[in-house]
Amino acid sequence: MKETGVCPKCGGADVVRVPGGVRSTMDNTQNFVIRGFQSAPVDRYICCACGFSEEWLREEDLEKAKKYWAGAAQ
Ligand SMILES: [Zn+2]
Repeated sequence: MKETGVCPKCGGADVVRVPGGVRSTMDNTQNFVIRGFQSAPVDRYICCACGFSEEWLREEDLEKAKKYWAGAAQ
């Protein structure tokens, strides 16, 4: 979905990227994963035809997220 721009559920091509970490002025809408001292924004790709959404961390945050969560007590 991120690479193809096509929804894997319905095949629609009306896919938009919603950047993570953006706070709305009216509520607390934002999308983060804790990765230590700072949180990592999670970008979301949404299909405007069926509503399916997919979430992706950014490549630069993966190592820190792995270090933080691989050793985290669940
Ligand atoms: Zn779809």
